[in-house]
Amino acid sequence: QAKERRDGQPAVYDPSLHRDLLERAALESDLRRALAENELQVHYQPTIVLESGEMVGVEALVRWQHPERGMVRPDLFIPLAEQTGMIHEVGLLVLREACLQGQRWAAMSPENALTVAVNVSGKQLQRTDFAEEVQDVLRESGFPAHRLVLEMTESVLVNDTEITLRTLRALRETGVRIAIDDFGTGYSSLSYLHHFPVDILKIDRSFVQRLSDPQAQNGLVESIVQIGRSLNLETIAEGIEDPQQISTLRGLGCELAQGYHFGRPGPAETVSRLVAAAADVQHREPEPVR
Ligand code: C2E
Ligand code: MG
Ligand code: MG
Ligand code: MG
Repeated sequence: QAKERRDGQPAVYDPSLHRDLLERAALESDLRRALAENELQVHYQPTIVLESGEMVGVEALVRWQHPERGMVRPDLFIPLAEQTGMIHEVGLLVLREACLQGQRWAAMSPENALTVAVNVSGKQLQRTDFAEEVQDVLRESGFPAHRLVLEMTESVLVNDTEITLRTLRALRETGVRIAIDDFGTGYSSLSYLHHFPVDILKIDRSFVQRLSDPQAQNGLVESIVQIGRSLNLETIAEGIEDPQQISTLRGLGCELAQGYHFGRPGPAETVSRLVAAAADVQHREPEPVR
């Protein structure tokens, strides 16, 4: 039976709400177990130079292999991790694993070592010791700071706190680079680009998707690429799925890209094979001329 609310109105009993709450509670305790039992894995998606197709980096994307539910999408459990504070542990796990893996790839191919991008949530940046934590991970893994990119959304910078700004400056000083993820979706003013140490803009997939329509106006993407150029930032187009998008992006002067067309996120071994193949091509003796 529904209880009366404090304002005297009878509360409406919503069974679907109840189910959501139960579902959330179950997922929450599952996530605690997942952390303890190593059910979280890190997958990697290549970043590609549009002109040459060369892989120059990867983005680390967390995956949860749940014993009964199968693969749980990060869109589902990252918000939950943020609400429960587990994001600090999840984030550290991904950062550690990604830096260790980045260092393994560097050992395989020292000449063209990959950059590694790791997503961080605003909650993590509000911790006063976050920059130190990152520095510890870099030291322990041996991964060089200048090859680590931390991705965050505009909202993190717009709702800026002194702590966030101080953290980002400290990270920047050690050589870590900062990328704005899903750039253009934040409906925000661009003024934050002036007082935050930003290095990279990632053009949101929703804008890139529209480029496959030959009739489409490309003004938005063009503006983002120009903002990037005038502020001396790299631009990476997210979510490339077809060749039409590639030629348009090249025409607009966008240098880097990610997307299913080049490679889906996959386990580290998938990237290792690509690194090994590239190193092999480079080291092969030139064919004798006959
Ligand atoms: P994001 O950082 O913007 O990552 C890009 C998402 O787009 C990934 O989804 C990726 O699999 C997907 N994607 C890449 N290329 C294509 C494409 O060509 N087409 C389509 N349709 N999708 C593409 P994913 O892995 O499900 O991650 C979703 C979001 O979850 C991420 O968006 C990021 O915001 C968050 N996330 C993932 N891993 C982490 C993490 O370790 N920490 C935190 N805080 N957030 C994470
Ligand atoms: Mg990202
Ligand atoms: Mg994104
Ligand atoms: Mg996103």
